[in-house]
Amino acid sequence: MTSRSLSIFCPKCGSENKKLFNGFCIECLLKDKKLFSIPEKIEIEICSRCNRMRVRGKWVAYSDTALLGLARSGSSFKGLENHELFLQGVEVNDKLGVLMVKISGKVGGEELEVERIVSLRIFRVTCPSCSRVSGSYFEAIFQARFEPKTPKKKIEEKMSEIHAFFKRNEENDPLSRVVKIQFVNNGFDLSIGSKRAVKKASGFFEKQLRERVIVTSDIYSYDRNKGRPIKRYTFCLRF
Ligand SMILES: [Zn+2]
Ligand SMILES: [Zn+2]
Repeated sequence: MTSRSLSIFCPKCGSENKKLFNGFCIECLLKDKKLFSIPEKIEIEICSRCNRMRVRGKWVAYSDTALLGLARSGSSFKGLENHELFLQGVEVNDKLGVLMVKISGKVGGEELEVERIVSLRIFRVTCPSCSRVSGSYFEAIFQARFEPKTPKKKIEEKMSEIHAFFKRNEENDPLSRVVKIQFVNNGFDLSIGSKRAVKKASGFFEKQLRERVIVTSDIYSYDRNKGRPIKRYTFCLRF
């Protein structure tokens, strides 16, 4: 018995001592049969202000998982059973990047693993939320008022505290941004991009108040597309 008779070889290319899948070596299998396809290149839009990225029309937090999701949505794994797509590494600079991925699955009961590189073309843009904020768009005013003769220092400290709250909230809501700060007698007004953020903040600071939050609104514009007036809200908080 010679070793030749024992060795397994690929009938297509003749290479020996390789793991075979349905009788063929991995190279021949990948050449001939569409086991899977993943995009060679994907184009992504990233907001240069808030760093969110656009995924299927939605602006989501930039993450490796979101990048992998984009690669996955352009892929097909018809010839692979139990397929999985893993991210092994990401490198991104201003305009270009690469995703290193690993595809695993089974062919004819045999485990298979292949590595691939997906190149990224990055477009730095301004997302709709950020372009509204940069145009000093705001939906609501957070109005803080203090008792007469409250020391200025105390008012300023509260201002920083509230400002920090909106800043933290920007991660979930990019319009949670302080567009304008205006000090008045015994208090200040913060113009904020998002009404939802102001509502959240007033709920957060409610327990420090002397009175209940008072919300008023006025009409400042008209939305022709939706055929209704656009309101601006004022949340008054008395500390
Ligand atoms: Zn072969
Ligand atoms: Zn943005």
